[in-house]
Amino acid sequence: MILTPHDRLFVLTGAGISAESGLATFRGSGGLWNGYRVDQVATPEAWHADPELVWRFYSMRRRDALAAQPNAAHLALAKIEHKLANNFYLCTQNVDDLHERAGSLRVHHMHGSVFQSRCVQCRVPFPDQGVYETAAELPMCPECGEAVRPHIVWFGEIPLDMDGIYRELEQATRLLVVGTSGSVYPAAGFVHVASQRGIHTVYVGPEEPSNADAFDEIILGPATTVLPGLL
Ligand SMILES: [Zn+2]
Repeated sequence: MILTPHDRLFVLTGAGISAESGLATFRGSGGLWNGYRVDQVATPEAWHADPELVWRFYSMRRRDALAAQPNAAHLALAKIEHKLANNFYLCTQNVDDLHERAGSLRVHHMHGSVFQSRCVQCRVPFPDQGVYETAAELPMCPECGEAVRPHIVWFGEIPLDMDGIYRELEQATRLLVVGTSGSVYPAAGFVHVASQRGIHTVYVGPEEPSNADAFDEIILGPATTVLPGLL
């Protein structure tokens, strides 16, 4: 993909790029955690029924994310951002911080961040690397005493700042999608929005996404191999 100084690149990354750093995707076959499907522990209903279970799941994800390292694909995106500066925007479906640790600055976590929590009442997200694995350890808000939950967009909740995302997408000249299944909306629809506006669209990942037909270009292969040569 040849980028000129007039290009604006919108990048969408999904679980595949983190999977290449060894982080579990929890989707598709075998996507179980302790015998639970992820949609049984990542919903507002699960939180109301059993906050301890939900916090055990996210505590494990915090440990896993802390132990993982950014890979060559994360680094390639940070490098291209360094060149494009404000003509670069990275929207990720991932909740880990591997993009930031690779050096990316313009990162929007549309599904929230595993290293942030928020009070259910005050609703202001704050940095949190704590692990809470028993009922006695569950965090409470120091301001109001209400429960503190992971700052994660659960199944059935609305992704963060969709207005900002579409504003960025509409200004882009190129859309690069990396490691998404192409089945999780609204992100799976970004390629359609881009195509309607004549934005060139490229997909990179080891397998065809389910919305493959919508892309101008599909490059099959691990992102760690493809991206360093592509950007
Ligand atoms: Zn509070």
